[in-house]
Amino acid sequence: MASSIFAIPFFAIFVLPLIGSYGASFNLVFFYMTWTILIYSHSAFKIELGSTLTVRFFFYVIPSIVFFLFDIFMPSGSVMLKAQGEFGLPAKSKRSKIRRKEFKVAGWSLLNLVSGLALQALIEITRTSYFRCQSTMRLEFLVPMPWEIAVDLLLVIIAREVLAYVIHRYVLHSKHNRVTRRISHYHETWYHSLHAPYPLTAHYDHPLPYLIGTVIPVILPAAVSRLHLITYAVYMTVISLEETLTFSGYLGMPSLLFLGGVARRREMHLLSGAAGNFGPWGMMDWLFRSGVTELANGHAMGETGAVAQPAAPAADVPTVNGEVPNGITSRPSRRSQRLTTEASMRTRSMVVPGTEHIEERVDQVIAQHARRRQRQHRLRREVLSDD
Ligand SMILES: [Zn+2]
Repeated sequence: MASSIFAIPFFAIFVLPLIGSYGASFNLVFFYMTWTILIYSHSAFKIELGSTLTVRFFFYVIPSIVFFLFDIFMPSGSVMLKAQGEFGLPAKSKRSKIRRKEFKVAGWSLLNLVSGLALQALIEITRTSYFRCQSTMRLEFLVPMPWEIAVDLLLVIIAREVLAYVIHRYVLHSKHNRVTRRISHYHETWYHSLHAPYPLTAHYDHPLPYLIGTVIPVILPAAVSRLHLITYAVYMTVISLEETLTFSGYLGMPSLLFLGGVARRREMHLLSGAAGNFGPWGMMDWLFRSGVTELANGHAMGETGAVAQPAAPAADVPTVNGEVPNGITSRPSRRSQRLTTEASMRTRSMVVPGTEHIEERVDQVIAQHARRRQRQHRLRREVLSDD
């Protein structure tokens, strides 16, 4: 079965058109020939699973493993590309020895990916064999037009954003009942034990929060809307590339499109201790004002104005409705990011763990109180001088 899943048509359909250097008309004829062979020689189940496996392998597993090994074995070269400097390396320092922990994270990440595929296969088998329903993805000879692919893609990406946001915020970080408390405990002790995202950590978590918070938001919208298999393959390619690039921790490459912003938002979700940035692309965080931004002075600031991560006195940067005037919240340079991360690491090492937020809040309240007292004195003087 494995050999039929990895049969030539999968590779030819999903990978060759991207790397081939033939003419457009030849590519089109070649594509339709391969597509016809594929849909008449394999079942919908095999094609869906085979395409997922092929796309995940070429656009997530291979590049993520290369980035991961580059980080582990050539940290001095990798650190120059990291947005968070040495802090973004798997071992947090380029002088650290290779540890088992990093390989354990990588192993769990790959195991989770396989468990996600197994879940997808189980859903498909139950759906087609037990409930006698149609296959999850639409398998038709007619290939959708580019604008149809674009519209379907937009809809499933929005649905994935909404689902991922709601699950991440209200299940993976919720203490409301026993079940969510347990899931939240797993997510916080596994995924949030990472100091920063690095290659292969996109799929690192306890298997339960991973399946609920990462796999379900990706496959449910595609299954409900019964995407055409070609659209589904494009969707999985977009998701795989997004995960590979935004969890790499590298600068430059993710700056294409808006991936740089997505990568920094993912980093801030971890660095701020889950103070915000629950959605993958930030649309829902922007709508519900739960975004966390790294300020130029190393603070993590929520959109409601709450400072989530202290590094220096909050009074350094004035804010208006949680935003710093004159665009100070825009992404700092690589050097300033490295300096602020080092500054925040130094600050963290000086205070008792767990008290940072309290101390920061106390400083803010004292400063507010002092300003109010000054205003009252000034008003009193003005009233007395008028009399
Ligand atoms: Zn989280």
